[in-house]
Amino acid sequence: MLNVKNLSFSYTKTPILKDVSFTVAPGENLAIIGESGSGKSTLLKLLYGAYDLDFGNIHWKDDEILGPKYNLVVGYPFMKYVAQEFDLMPFISVEETIGKFLSNFFPKEKKERTAELLEVVELTNFSKTKVKTLSGGQKQRVALARALAKQPEIILLDEPFSHIDNFQKRSLRRNVFKYLKDKHVTCIVATHDRDDVLGFADRMILLNNQNIEANGTPEVLYRNPKTPLIASFFGEYNMINEKIIYAHQLKIVEVSEFKATVIKSFFKGHFYSIEAWLGSEKIFFEHPVQLEKGEVVFLKIDDLSRYN
Ligand code: ADP
Ligand code: MG
Repeated sequence: MLNVKNLSFSYTKTPILKDVSFTVAPGENLAIIGESGSGKSTLLKLLYGAYDLDFGNIHWKDDEILGPKYNLVVGYPFMKYVAQEFDLMPFISVEETIGKFLSNFFPKEKKERTAELLEVVELTNFSKTKVKTLSGGQKQRVALARALAKQPEIILLDEPFSHIDNFQKRSLRRNVFKYLKDKHVTCIVATHDRDDVLGFADRMILLNNQNIEANGTPEVLYRNPKTPLIASFFGEYNMINEKIIYAHQLKIVEVSEFKATVIKSFFKGHFYSIEAWLGSEKIFFEHPVQLEKGEVVFLKIDDLSRYN
């Protein structure tokens, strides 16, 4: 188990993380989410041992993760870290990059392993291509495959799909997370993209104000968002009578206590996002067809607890 206890850290005088504690079970997929600058990348780097903590400690099983002051070479053999800014050697091929950490004593195994990983990151056709000539997204995939080459017990991924275009993101995400689950690799992903979390993360931690604002399964946090920040991660929401109501919870009915006047309809694919006045408050709800400006509708709130 990964055990983070009372971790505090600052680069300069300003504290970045204060008294942060959590655990991650072997094989678990944990998402670390939070706004830009909330300390996601910093936390991953600390888990990797890239900096010394101001306070607290981090353990993976019986090993304490130590920073540069106590550990000459940063990192541990059981752990891999894929940075937000990946650095690859430009002049060698994709295949060579992935195989770099694999033993040449077992050429057959090396070849098979490389082929397997190329498939996971969907780069089979680029095995002989020089890294230098790849796009940003392709480089990101090489960095992922390289980290997986010598299978770690735990992998730390910082915004792993941020450079990859929407055409390939979905299948790549499924491949990579399925691979990690199948191989029982503990995975910690820092992201601000809910699509990296939903359907994949067993648990999520929300960082805010130097600390953990929420820690739970995506289902529980989604159905009972305790703060607006949690709700905003999952989608458009409104504050109605001081309660957090997702846009998709509002449905048009014949008549109700909530009378709204349409401001604008935004096409979103299988629905329209409708901006409307509810009294003096602007709200959003979802509707299958477009509504005209000035149209008056009545809304009811769909209760999420019925899914519990
Ligand atoms: P996130 O990944 O959630 O966007 P970061 O961990 O990168 O957040 O950054 C958290 C805070 O730490 C930010 O305010 C950032 O400016 C600061 N920070 C990040 N790296 C450094 C550094 N090397 N030196 C000083 N401050 C840093
Ligand atoms: Mg970051």
